[in-house]
Amino acid sequence: ITLGGGIISMISIVLAGYFLAKRAMIPIQAAWEKQQQFVSDASHELRSPITGIYSNAELMLRHPEHTIEEESHRINTIMKESMRMTKLISSLLTLARSDANKAELQLAPVNISEVIEAVVGSFKSMEEINNLTLTVNVKPNLELIADKERLHQLMVILLDNAFKYTPPGGKVHISCFQTDKHVIISVQDTGCGISPENLPRVFDRFFRGDKARSRESGGIGLGLAIAKWIVEKHKGKIGVESELGRGTKFTISIPVTHT
Ligand code: ADP
Repeated sequence: ITLGGGIISMISIVLAGYFLAKRAMIPIQAAWEKQQQFVSDASHELRSPITGIYSNAELMLRHPEHTIEEESHRINTIMKESMRMTKLISSLLTLARSDANKAELQLAPVNISEVIEAVVGSFKSMEEINNLTLTVNVKPNLELIADKERLHQLMVILLDNAFKYTPPGGKVHISCFQTDKHVIISVQDTGCGISPENLPRVFDRFFRGDKARSRESGGIGLGLAIAKWIVEKHKGKIGVESELGRGTKFTISIPVTHT
C-alpha cells in the first residue's frame, strides 16, 4: 500500500507539474502568436507600396519617349507610395523598439499647453482645406514630467485621426486641464464614429475600421497602437467613447510626475 501510495503521489506530482507548466506556457504562446501576426501583417503592408513603386517604374521604362508631364501621374504615385512606406517603416521601428524595451523616454519638465498649441497651429491650415472648425480649451502653462517629442507625436496622431474621420462641416475640439495629480487631455470630433464591435479593437496593431477610407488618407492602422504605447509608457491611460455617425472622443490621463 505504501509503495502504491508513493507511486500514485509521484504520478500526481508529475501530472500537476505538467499541467502547471502547460498553463504557464499559455501567455508565452499567446505573445509569440501575436508577434508572428505582427511580422506577417507588417510584411503584407510593406509589400503593397513596393508593388506600386515597382509596377509604375516598370511602366515608365516601357515608354522612354514619354515626357515627364506625360508620366507625372505615375511619378506622383511613386512618390506617394514611397512616403507611405517611410511612414510605415518609422511606425514599425517605434513599435519594434517598444517591444524590445529599447525605447526610453527623454523625461524633462514639459509645458503640455505649449505642445498642444504648437500641434493645433500646424493643423490650422487643414481646418480650411477640410472645412472643419477646430476649437481649443487648454489651460495655460500646464506642466508635467514627460517626453516632449512623444507627447507631440501623440497629439499629432489624435488630431490627424479627428481630421481624417470627420466629414466637411464638422467640429474638432481639444481640451486640456489638470486635476490633483493628472493632466487630462481630450480630443473630440463630430465625425463618422466607431461601431461598438470595432471600439475595443481600435488600439490593436494594423486595425483599420474602414480600410478604404483609412488607406485613401494614408492610414496604416498603427497610429492608435503607438498612441496607446506613448500614454502607457508615461504611466497614463487612454480611453475612447464613440457613437456611430455622431463622433468620437479620446481621453488621456497622464500623471504629472513620473514616479
Ligand atoms: P489609421 O491609420 O487607419 O487611422 P489608427 O490606428 O490611427 O489607424 O486608427 C485605427 C482605426 O480606428 C481607424 O482605421 C479608424 O477606423 C478608427 N478611428 C481612429 N480614430 C478615429 C476617429 N477620430 N473617428 C472615427 N474612427 C477613428
